Amino acid sequence: LIVVEGVNKHFGAAHVLRDVSTRFYEGHVAVIIGASGSGKSTFLRTLNRLEKHGSGRIVVDGIELNDSVKNLDAIRREVGMVFQQFNLFPHLTVLENITLAPRRVRKTPRKQAQEAAFELLTRVGMKDHAHKYPHQLSGGQQQRVAIARSLAMQPKVLLFDEPTSALDPEMINEVLDVMKDIARSGMTMIVVTHEMRFAREVGDRILFFDQGTLLQEAPPDEFFDRQHNERIRGFLGQLA
Ligand code: ATP
Ligand code: MG
Repeated sequence: LIVVEGVNKHFGAAHVLRDVSTRFYEGHVAVIIGASGSGKSTFLRTLNRLEKHGSGRIVVDGIELNDSVKNLDAIRREVGMVFQQFNLFPHLTVLENITLAPRRVRKTPRKQAQEAAFELLTRVGMKDHAHKYPHQLSGGQQQRVAIARSLAMQPKVLLFDEPTSALDPEMINEVLDVMKDIARSGMTMIVVTHEMRFAREVGDRILFFDQGTLLQEAPPDEFFDRQHNERIRGFLGQLA
């Protein structure tokens, strides 16, 4: 579904993505891990063109990412993103947050958009909160709404950038459970996280970034249980 070939990215003199090549397959869950500053967020953001890449190619569902505006719109429709800080619109209710993009971008009629929103809110366990504002919700609840909002655009791929890092520990699982449910429904997902249990249980593949390089990609059992790379063993050891 997504092809990444020889991608490089610089911020000024800093070379933050180094010759990254990989593929993401339909219906699979890829989990990205690595130290702080290794380029995980930057990589994720190049996949929906929140960041431009330098040299190399990124093709999403047959659309090459370049400067053409038309293809940017198509990409933003097809590639949803969930952020660490939820990024809900504070002045809109939960229901309005979810129906805004489908109505504006997909031109979905209001009633239909609302029905779809209630279905999604039910799925993430938030249908009783449809008329509240974000500040009336806990972090975990806000993040579940943010996930529902992304799903409302019916994306082909969902990107998650440390979706539970800003949450209190007791709220992490409610968000991870929703993500597991979405994964089971067959959604293609690319998830940056430090939640190793989630990575192992839900990930089809683990990608490890090290100083801008995609150092390794492997299935979870191989990655966690038969890890031969000293650097990655060191990283995993620090978490244990
Ligand atoms: P973390 O785990 O802390 O979120 P990360 O792996 O997501 O880290 P990135 O945020 O992708 O890392 O950053 C990779 C490198 O690029 C870092 O050295 C960072 O300082 C730099 N960087 C990221 N965004 C910018 C920017 N907008 N301008 C300049 N440098 C940037
Ligand atoms: Mg990051």
